[in-house]
Amino acid sequence: MIKAVLFDMDGVIYDSLPSHVRAWSEMAQKYDLVLAPNDIYLWEGRIGSSIINKLYQATYGHDATQQEINDLYAEKARLFSKYFNGQIIEGIRDVLENVKKLNLDMLIVTGSGQHGLIDKVTADFDGYFNRTKMITSFDVKVGKPHPEPYLTALRKAGVEACEAIVVENAPLGVQSAVAAGIYTIAVNTGPLPDDMLFEAGADVLYHDMPSLANHIAHIVEYLNTPQDA
Ligand code: MG
Repeated sequence: MIKAVLFDMDGVIYDSLPSHVRAWSEMAQKYDLVLAPNDIYLWEGRIGSSIINKLYQATYGHDATQQEINDLYAEKARLFSKYFNGQIIEGIRDVLENVKKLNLDMLIVTGSGQHGLIDKVTADFDGYFNRTKMITSFDVKVGKPHPEPYLTALRKAGVEACEAIVVENAPLGVQSAVAAGIYTIAVNTGPLPDDMLFEAGADVLYHDMPSLANHIAHIVEYLNTPQDA
């Protein structure tokens, strides 16, 4: 039986990707780091230190030092806070409400280490999520696409992989959830092609949250039905 739904945050709860892209791009430009136009969408889900190492590898062929990681992430976080206006993804409240009606537990599993955004989600979605029901970059060592964040979330929720569903928007996030053995719904809220989400292992794909809100009860019912009956 399905007992919990695990939600990614950026691109699933918040319409924050354009602000992340802008903040990373300006930070990279300021420090003369190589960043291609779609890189941030392709790397979405990675924790900050992992993205900074990607930029250093592309520019210098080696990883950043811990001090460089701290300085650059602080600058990126500052720029993000300046640009992000708190916009939520259209239709996500209906998804959450429909999940709540099914009496399922709800957790957030994000690679984000943006304190402002992490505090905001508990305020914006009071009654749905709380800080004890969140896995952030502060709770993991490796981060997505490794299964670690979703495995940590399963432990926190006290459920097995077969008792959970993941909602993700990014290829590396889907990869992480699938590697943890969880049924994964992709909602393609960004500019990457659907194929990338299917190739990452998505079980089903929607193009927007209102469609998922209409179908979530059916998906849960389907997963709760013995398949070999
Ligand atoms: Mg995301």
